[in-house]
Amino acid sequence: MGMNVKPIPTLDDEINEIRLATADIVNTHVLPNEGRLWGWMADSANATNEVRAEAKQLREDIQNTVKSANLWAPHLPREFGGMGLSFLQHAYMNEILAYSPGAASLFGVVAPNSGNQKILVKYGTPEQHEQWLKPLTEGTMQSGFSMTEPHNPGSDPRSLTTRAELDGDEWVINGHKWFTSNGHAADFYIVMCRTADEDSGGKTDKMTQIIVPKDTPGVNIVRGVPVWGRTSSHCEIIYDNVRVPKENQLGRTGTGHQAAQDRLGAGRVYHCMNSIGSMWRAFDLMVDRLTTREVHGGEKLEEKQFMQGFIAESYMDIQSARLMTIHCAEKMETGADPRTDISAIKIFVPAAYHRVVDRAIQVWGAAGVSGDLPLAGMYQGARTLRLADGPDEVHKILIAKLILRRYHSGETWDFGN
Ligand SMILES: Cc1cc2nc3c(=O)[nH]c(=O)nc-3n(C[C@H](O)[C@H](O)[C@H](O)COP(=O)(O)OP(=O)(O)OC[C@H]3O[C@@H](n4cnc5c(N)ncnc54)[C@H](O)[C@@H]3O)c2cc1C
Repeated sequence: MGMNVKPIPTLDDEINEIRLATADIVNTHVLPNEGRLWGWMADSANATNEVRAEAKQLREDIQNTVKSANLWAPHLPREFGGMGLSFLQHAYMNEILAYSPGAASLFGVVAPNSGNQKILVKYGTPEQHEQWLKPLTEGTMQSGFSMTEPHNPGSDPRSLTTRAELDGDEWVINGHKWFTSNGHAADFYIVMCRTADEDSGGKTDKMTQIIVPKDTPGVNIVRGVPVWGRTSSHCEIIYDNVRVPKENQLGRTGTGHQAAQDRLGAGRVYHCMNSIGSMWRAFDLMVDRLTTREVHGGEKLEEKQFMQGFIAESYMDIQSARLMTIHCAEKMETGADPRTDISAIKIFVPAAYHRVVDRAIQVWGAAGVSGDLPLAGMYQGARTLRLADGPDEVHKILIAKLILRRYHSGETWDFGN
């Protein structure tokens, strides 16, 4: 069973063409091959060389199909090898891609490389583009984003203490980070560091992002922090007198916080569209099971009212999450202030995703938590999303602050906004 994607009459032809072409590749080439592409990874220790080689070949074949269809790297501008999509086009494409967890990687979008690529595009110099962005886009390099610290609350970036001091032509970095995703495979990290602010003569310290190659002396990977009971590549890293050239800094000194906001703000909308695509998959799986599984003397599950409730509640969760996210994406596209909506979807969508997958698991019984279906992975992913990119409570505080500010200034909330 594939996803059912038809043109949406209110969208322009170009967006519909991208949606349909993407769905065609996912339905034809990815969904029937999910087991061979990555199903074996759940028991990778026992995977034979043949299984690995077949997966690699399959990946390359699909990537070539994607490139021939001009659907490679939807997150990048054309001059950097991407599709050059508008914000909305990219958001709609993500919904389709996320129907099959992992499909985005076959279209050139692999986190955290994709976020780093966008930061390099916006803040990098031509030399940095050549040295770091190009190999990242060609797939010959990997990267990580190193911001969160074990001893300071990640939800308050003002608390970060990793420091970079200028010594001649070099930055000297000292600090302790963790949850640097892709940390083992990365060739370099973009590290969030506190630096003296040149504009204020060093009186206030702001954040600067600095590129640190992993093999630099003083970069000590302590461990991959186990997540959900498994080893992971979310690494704890100590930066001990790490020296990198001054030209490894991204953008002007002190612009690191803004760069992180640029990365996370847009990223949150894309992540929510991903969650919605995955919700559709969980929904299709759930309804499919309800219409085929027989219980108690031959009645189908779909005939039970508890189960019908699952269908109705999941449908409402998906539609409300989807409309909120598209509303927010439209604001981003038109340049309206999207901050309240970004925080609102960042809270609402992962929670709705969590509920939808939870019901699908319940319907599938034991199979729901098995490695034979994508539901267990989705469930953990949905829960994790309530923490990553800013936890729920912090976004609630921000929504309330933005709305109250409006009311205190004598305005009420505009219904259409
Ligand atoms: C799987 C995964 C991958 C990640 N990948 C990366 C990565 O690649 N790079 C990276 O730098 N980081 C990464 N992170 C870290 C993530 O960004 C942080 O976990 C997140 O920012 C929260 O920070 P924290 O864990 O320090 O929680 P804390 O900041 O300690 O917050 C703990 C809890 O307190 C709540 N809280 C905080 N302030 C308030 C308040 N004022 N009122 C009420 N409640 C409050 C929060 O909402 C949260 O629920 C990853 C995390 C996970 C789980």
